[in-house]
Amino acid sequence: MTEINFKCKKCKRYFDCNIGYISFPSKEERPNFEKNIICPECGIRTMDEVELTELGQTQLGEIYFSLLK
Ligand SMILES: [Zn+2]
Repeated sequence: MTEINFKCKKCKRYFDCNIGYISFPSKEERPNFEKNIICPECGIRTMDEVELTELGQTQLGEIYFSLLK
C-alpha cells in the first residue's frame, strides 16, 4: 500500500490516497499508478485534476529512488 498526498484542484482539499503500485515509464514524465486517485469529496480524479503536494512529491521521490536500487 502506497499513500501519496494530493490536493484536489476542484474542491481544494488535501488528501492521502492509496495508489497501489507505481511505475515510472522511462520516456514519460508522469508515473503510472495502479489504482485511481480518489478525492474524498469528488471521487475518481485524473492526474490533471489533482496536484501533488510538497509532501506528495517527497513521497514519490522516495519511491522512485527505492526502485532504482
Ligand atoms: Zn475534490
